[in-house]
Amino acid sequence: MAASEEDRHLKLTGEFDCDPTPLSTLRHSTSHVMAQAVKRLWPDVSIAIGPAIEDGFYYDFGRSEPFTPEDLAKIEEGMRAIAKEKLRFERSEMPRADAIAYFRERREPWKVEIIEGIADDRVSIYRQGDYVDLCRGPHVSSTAEIKHFKLLSSSGAYWRGDEKNPMLQRIYGTAWLTKEDLDQYLWRLEEAKKRDHRKLGRELELFDFHDVAPGAPFWLPKGMVIFRELEKYWREIHDAHDYLETSTPILVNKKLWEQSGHWELYQDNMFKLEVEEQIFSLKPMNCPESTYVYRHTLRSYRDLPLRVAEIGRLHRNERSGTLTGMFRVRQITMDDAHIYCRPDQVQDEISGVLGLVREFYKLFNLEPSFKLATRPPDMLGTKEQWDDAEHALHEALRSNGLAYDLKPGDGAFYGPKIDIHIDDAIGRNWQIATVQLDLTMLPERFQLEYVDTDGQRKRPVAIHRAIFGSFERFIGVITEHFAGAFPTWLAPVQARVLPISVKHEDYAKQVYEKLRAAKVRAELDNRNEKLGYRIREAQLHKVPYMLVVGDREREQDAVSLRHRTGDDLGAVPLDRVLADLAREIGARASTLTVGRA
Ligand SMILES: [Zn+2]
Ligand SMILES: [Zn+2]
Repeated sequence: MAASEEDRHLKLTGEFDCDPTPLSTLRHSTSHVMAQAVKRLWPDVSIAIGPAIEDGFYYDFGRSEPFTPEDLAKIEEGMRAIAKEKLRFERSEMPRADAIAYFRERREPWKVEIIEGIADDRVSIYRQGDYVDLCRGPHVSSTAEIKHFKLLSSSGAYWRGDEKNPMLQRIYGTAWLTKEDLDQYLWRLEEAKKRDHRKLGRELELFDFHDVAPGAPFWLPKGMVIFRELEKYWREIHDAHDYLETSTPILVNKKLWEQSGHWELYQDNMFKLEVEEQIFSLKPMNCPESTYVYRHTLRSYRDLPLRVAEIGRLHRNERSGTLTGMFRVRQITMDDAHIYCRPDQVQDEISGVLGLVREFYKLFNLEPSFKLATRPPDMLGTKEQWDDAEHALHEALRSNGLAYDLKPGDGAFYGPKIDIHIDDAIGRNWQIATVQLDLTMLPERFQLEYVDTDGQRKRPVAIHRAIFGSFERFIGVITEHFAGAFPTWLAPVQARVLPISVKHEDYAKQVYEKLRAAKVRAELDNRNEKLGYRIREAQLHKVPYMLVVGDREREQDAVSLRHRTGDDLGAVPLDRVLADLAREIGARASTLTVGRA
């Protein structure tokens, strides 16, 4: 994220080209104020670049030693002082050659390098008080507007994101238009730390990572339960929506990638191997191979739509520095599908995918939002094809009653797409999945055909789609969304039986066996520990239900039922607990209902 943000700034303008919304203008201006405070404290430190990013900003500084937390506190203090001075942001222009001389004299080598890479005759300069920066702007009018900000962290960062370049020191901060927004964001950061899926994954024994396989999770038995439940549900709804499941090879000759175009554009991201003097690669996506399924036989208009789904294991060679838990992995299990259809079927097919998306996310209490990305300047295919395709996507969204944002020009060169985002329980937005229309790439490169009603051979349209993206990322997201307290149908352990003392072990075993016979994932905790301790431990492991048994429960064929939320429901007949559990799990309910009236 940071690297591409950086690239964008450098590539587009030579330096900053903030998208000029009030918030990003404020954030970018805050980065200038931070740089000013740094220069006042350490006049010898040089300044590199400081863009606004999602939720905040950063600035990179030429300095060998890292900034300490105490340094950040001092810088923040300096920034508040600068805000009080109410300095105006003043724009001016300079001939390129003068600017190079100017920044060289000020001993700002990074700025000199940036200007040398700019083709324009003149560059713009922003000044506030004693601070001068090379910048496109825009900026707020005065430092007095810099009010609601906080510096968050610092770390090393290579100049232009390239490890061959010198290491700079980056400081990250956040800035908001109101104090409420800032407080809310800082709360979200705290909450996100508590919910970090890497931490929860270890504590709840779901998955783990080891140096021997960077970017690839080790799924532990409990995590695998979640994976399997998702897979089971995925198969159910795909069967119900008339998808056919396939499985295609992981290790594939490079010839295929040359035909698909990935070899040319994507090979740096592919793992390559030599087998019998030929180059093979681990597949980074399923698309090209799905065309073999399509081409297995000659298709007629009656065979379409053909919906081919695959839970494919993919490998992408992400740089080791960018790997983050389940969010950025090298080994991905994608919930992929390709739909091949006639042009007149596109709208219905997209509509069907959107319906599937909504049905799917409802289970997780996640509200999806949609963004429609339309034709880019370098589009392939005819204007008519694009008009029809974009119209079909608009109509599919409308017919589902969905509000959506437009991202003009953001589609792929081979077709428009709909990006699917969700907001999680603490208000973070995630892009999860995509529905991508493909007018030309697969159909043309693989010469796909069907025989139409008039006997003519025509090109089908391909739709690439995923519902939750990848198992890894989605399980990472819902682990944080639920803070590890999964709905019962997904919970690795659904119920734990706790005998009050050794005397009650026999009855506890009976209860446990009945749960197992009813296919409830149950555990018996008959360790020689205090009941209170065992209850607390079950709660820490987010086990939905605790069934406590003693003399009274045994006499009544009942259990004392506790929810992981701390609710104590008292004695409930065992039969009732079993029936409620079966209903809740069967319905894949999102709330705990067992024992409630
Ligand atoms: Zn600027
Ligand atoms: Zn695809």
